[in-house]
Amino acid sequence: MSGILYIISAPSGSGKTTLVNELRQYVTSLEFSISYTTRPPRGSEQDGREYHFITRSEFEAMKDRDEFLEFAEVFGNYYGTARSVLEQAREHGHDLLLDIDVQGARQVKKKMPEALSIFVLPPSRKELESRLRKRSQSENMHSEEVIKRRLDTARKEIENYPNYDYILVNDRLEQSVDQLQAIVLAERIRRAGKPFSNEDQRFLTTAEKCLKSNMEEKIRNILASFDVALPAVLENAEVKR
Ligand code: 5GP
Repeated sequence: MSGILYIISAPSGSGKTTLVNELRQYVTSLEFSISYTTRPPRGSEQDGREYHFITRSEFEAMKDRDEFLEFAEVFGNYYGTARSVLEQAREHGHDLLLDIDVQGARQVKKKMPEALSIFVLPPSRKELESRLRKRSQSENMHSEEVIKRRLDTARKEIENYPNYDYILVNDRLEQSVDQLQAIVLAERIRRAGKPFSNEDQRFLTTAEKCLKSNMEEKIRNILASFDVALPAVLENAEVKR
């Protein structure tokens, strides 16, 4: 693939979909992969717009024909990215963004290590819980069981943050959109190999602040709220203080 491949993952309820939808308005020449899923459409979702909604046997058939770049089972449903999306983006000369879970991200990184990955974190466990509650109320399927399961899954997903290049804490939407845009554009700016303008420099600086290595101190409390262990390097730094 000649274009840039971006991967974005987040626990359910982190506001990733809103972020990605905002990004669409600010960044051109970026395609957004439409995944295949066996889950039924929600709310106003339309086949071919948010997802290609297919049956389990159709999914199995695609899997057998090796048509997926990656696939995973999430909350009891299959989700997968068709290999063809890469070819399409390449033909159009566009970059491509995959909104996929941590299992899918791992598979793609293995096949395409040059892919650039972004993990979105909620500001805290408490905030995620409140967002999940609001969402389940608006969907009229309030269930403590579902919320507990989603929070549990969130913790397991967050444990995977060290596999990502960039970390975004989705606290204030406007700032998070700015940061996401900067991460996407910074990679393009770097690859263009041209002298940097002042605006380029601004994007590069914002993106650099979101690099995982520059975020680990900042996300310490968020990780702790989810009971996710800190990497050994940080724990040692704490002991020395
Ligand atoms: P939802 O059902 O809420 O739209 O998505 C549930 C989860 O599945 C999200 O974390 C989303 O990123 C992930 N997902 C969506 N499409 C794909 C895909 O093609 N592959 C993988 N591995 N995960 C996906």
